[in-house]
Amino acid sequence: MKDSVRFLVEPRSKVKLRDVDPDYRGGHAKPEDAQEEIEHHAQRLRALQELLYAEHQRALLICLQAMDAGGKDGTINHVLGAMNPQGCKVVSFKQPSVVERDHDFLWRVHLQTPGKGEVGVFNRSYYEDVLVTRVHDLVPEKVWSKRYDQINDFEKMLAKNGTLLLKFFLYISKDEQLRRFKDRLDDPTKHWKISASDYTERERWDDYIGAFEAALSRCSTKHAPWFIIPANHKWFRNLAVSRIVVECLEGLNMKYPEPSVDFDQIRKAYHDAQREQLGNAVPGGSEGQG
Ligand code: ATP
Ligand code: MG
Repeated sequence: MKDSVRFLVEPRSKVKLRDVDPDYRGGHAKPEDAQEEIEHHAQRLRALQELLYAEHQRALLICLQAMDAGGKDGTINHVLGAMNPQGCKVVSFKQPSVVERDHDFLWRVHLQTPGKGEVGVFNRSYYEDVLVTRVHDLVPEKVWSKRYDQINDFEKMLAKNGTLLLKFFLYISKDEQLRRFKDRLDDPTKHWKISASDYTERERWDDYIGAFEAALSRCSTKHAPWFIIPANHKWFRNLAVSRIVVECLEGLNMKYPEPSVDFDQIRKAYHDAQREQLGNAVPGGSEGQG
């Protein structure tokens, strides 16, 4: 079964995250077993991105959401690391500014979506407006509860305008999060990643799970699917996300564009130039004769 099917949240299904195993790692016992496949997918990603860029008809938007320490940064590093930086853009969504808060929640988002030929990655996204916002009552329920439909409408519009939208929830267990927090504490080069809010947000774990389940259930659609990626094993997470992006890009059946020039004319110009070049190189050639 393809990963784009295995990890897909079926539209209109009711997600229960306790039924998902964040430790899942497919048929591979350890990262070395998957190495060849990881490299193969990295190469495919690069080739498909070049095709997307050359075809210039569609955009790819990858949206990443996770609990703190869920691996958004590592995933971006792996997936975009395989691609040509020209044509890729990462946008990290932080707390909205005062001006942004005075607008609708999608106002700051639309301008950041990728254009034709581009790959965009959202590191967090407008889904925060039904996640952290809901968990902390940052706006009244009557405001955030309408946002699921607004998100579906927005995503449909992007899809109809040529954006392939793939949304990944990187699912780690609560134990794994604590292990990663400890790694950060033990490693001075990772201290900069620690913030006090990581621990306070952890206390709201169950509320976040509820908010994620609602978002995944209500906003996985045919045109903008959600995938739940078992993410306790970083290498499996990278492999699964890469596989899904490859499978979905391949499904677009992209083609290199037809040349916009007359090849007979270009070939003639090339031969003329070559002849002149040869003439210049030979003593008594075209220059000497002129
Ligand atoms: P890292 O994993 O490296 O810590 P991060 O994505 O957590 O990266 P931070 O700067 O630590 O980056 O956190 C960004 C914060 O911005 C998060 O707490 C997130 O919930 C918050 N945020 C993002 N969008 C919104 C929003 N629309 N409303 C309120 N808070 C938001
Ligand atoms: Mg953080």
